[in-house]
Amino acid sequence: MLLLSGPNIAGNEWKYVKDCLDTGWVSSVGSYVTQFENMVAEFAGCRYGVATSNGTSALHIALQLAGVQDNDYVIVPNVTFIASVNSIKYTGADPILMDVDPGTWQMDLELLREFLEKETSQKGGERVYNKTGRVIRAIMPVHVLGNICDMDTLMDIANTYQIKVVEDSTESLGSYYKGKHTGGFGLMGTFSFNGNKIITTGGGGVIVTNDEALAKKAKHLTTQAKSDPFEYIHDEIGYNFRLVNVLAAMGVAQMEQLPGFIQRKKEVDALYRSELQGVGDISFQEVKSEVNPNCWLFTFKTEKQRDVLKVLNENQMQSRPFWVPMNKLRMFKDDVYYHHDDKSDYIYQRCLSIPCSTNITDDEVKAVAEKIRSIY
Ligand SMILES: *Cc1c(COP(=O)(O)O)cnc(C)c1O
Repeated sequence: MLLLSGPNIAGNEWKYVKDCLDTGWVSSVGSYVTQFENMVAEFAGCRYGVATSNGTSALHIALQLAGVQDNDYVIVPNVTFIASVNSIKYTGADPILMDVDPGTWQMDLELLREFLEKETSQKGGERVYNKTGRVIRAIMPVHVLGNICDMDTLMDIANTYQIKVVEDSTESLGSYYKGKHTGGFGLMGTFSFNGNKIITTGGGGVIVTNDEALAKKAKHLTTQAKSDPFEYIHDEIGYNFRLVNVLAAMGVAQMEQLPGFIQRKKEVDALYRSELQGVGDISFQEVKSEVNPNCWLFTFKTEKQRDVLKVLNENQMQSRPFWVPMNKLRMFKDDVYYHHDDKSDYIYQRCLSIPCSTNITDDEVKAVAEKIRSIY
């Protein structure tokens, strides 16, 4: 079976994990945790990194530290993985689901500006949604598939309307906008090291920020908020969202290989594009010239989406449709969804992702492409 985007364990993983097992530093304390945090932060061009149990918990904590609380709103694209919106709900806030651009598949920034202009107003230093009088505390751009929306425009909007930015940069390790890595544009960014991401710790996450106080608070909150090194004194309700040393050890080994993985993702992307260019109605995700993406998950658009999915999966080439838009899920159907003509649904009906692990061979890519061509 050709996996959609599987792990590639090809470096020092065994060695570093064995080191943990041999020394007994297997749990929530150990030098690999700090090393991994520093490596990810440095790679992303941020001053601080705080490891977490996964990308979802990283988002939850980042939102909480941005001040998101009960009854607030967070603006998020309607096309994303569910963790973005779940993490908003965990804080007690509700999402405002923003429709996406049909070319780049990122949050539609024209629509975002229009929404803020028409539907919200400033009340005592806070941005309020007119219909309910509730505060919009944060905007969460999601760098979908490692592509990036126009961050200059997004930051300009956030500044104009005085709303904080927390990046769901979980898919974008290795992606740059005008030479600047994702994660450091707003208050905080988040990365995920789930098994299908560009590097993996099996499960894991990192919060990045340039704000020392926020980094310290993030560490505190994710480690049970213990305020005394000796006595069990805890000064708030914290979480056990640590990344354990064994997994961080794997993460260090994976980080060492990240430049090679990014290069391979780009090669696979380029090879698929050349193999599928001009085939039927196939078209690709639009990437703006300011963006240098990590090409995490190869995805394309076609009216024959369901046929292609069927044929590839029947042939052991693991392929998946795009996420069901958030407004269509039972839990979020009553939340605000701002759109004109539901581009989310348009994309959902047409996009699919195909095998693109970093250890896929050129011949395997060509075999997948050949199988796709045979459908048209
Ligand atoms: C992977 C991912 C997350 C976080 O995932 P975890 O599995 O919790 O690490 C969040 N948002 C998006 C868009 C993702 O793709």
